Amino acid sequence: MEEMVPILRRGLADLGLPDTGAKALARYGALLAEKNQVMNLTAITDPADMAALHFLDSAALLTLADLRNKSVADVGTGAGFPGLPLRIVEPSIQLTLLDAQNKRVDFLREVCAALDLPDVVCVHARAEEFAAEHRESFDIVTSRAVANLRMLSELCLPLVKPGGYFLAMKSVESDAETAEAAQALRLLGGRLERVEDYAIPGTEVRHRLLFIKKTAPTPKKYPRPFAKIKKNPL
Ligand code: SAM
Repeated sequence: MEEMVPILRRGLADLGLPDTGAKALARYGALLAEKNQVMNLTAITDPADMAALHFLDSAALLTLADLRNKSVADVGTGAGFPGLPLRIVEPSIQLTLLDAQNKRVDFLREVCAALDLPDVVCVHARAEEFAAEHRESFDIVTSRAVANLRMLSELCLPLVKPGGYFLAMKSVESDAETAEAAQALRLLGGRLERVEDYAIPGTEVRHRLLFIKKTAPTPKKYPRPFAKIKKNPL
């Protein structure tokens, strides 16, 4: 994974970000590749692709949103994306990584130990259950590749403080999905404020970040149990 270091350095520089985290990201990549041999963490195994499609894609958020000194929860983080690269590149983030699969959370704890990131909180929980104790307690909630926006909003928006943001990473072809989520956002106290498409350095790939502002507290009846969210999305 040493070969990832120059790719990451160049990519971070292209994004206008400090490249001081490049070595830590490459170490994370090595741990991910190693663990991926024994459990399913990612379909992306080529080091250059991993650098671009996981690490730089995640880090690109820092060029669009000011996450400095913010409490950030990454919902359905899986192998740590986008949350952990954000924290590695921007150390002032107070990060909570949340996933429903315990083995993935165990992997994240191993990575945080190896990279000496003792302040990163790794939680094994379903987002809709975590909200019972941690309602409206994060400045920012991020999420990538977890569910369609109607369902995802019910998982994420209850966790966001009023005035904060739910940052949803989506494809550039998410117009219809976004339009279908309009009612869900309204019911949950959110409003789509901004849509930013961005390019992943060194690739032709473009992705999208939706800025959903929490404009009002989420009514207490949300989030519902997952079976209801799935059966009857808002
Ligand atoms: N965000 C990562 C990424 O972009 O590589 C992982 C995406 S993976 C396809 C989806 C992850 O969401 C899985 O690890 C799954 O366990 C988690 N997940 C799905 N529903 C969830 C929920 N309700 N609460 C917490 N995690 C959830």
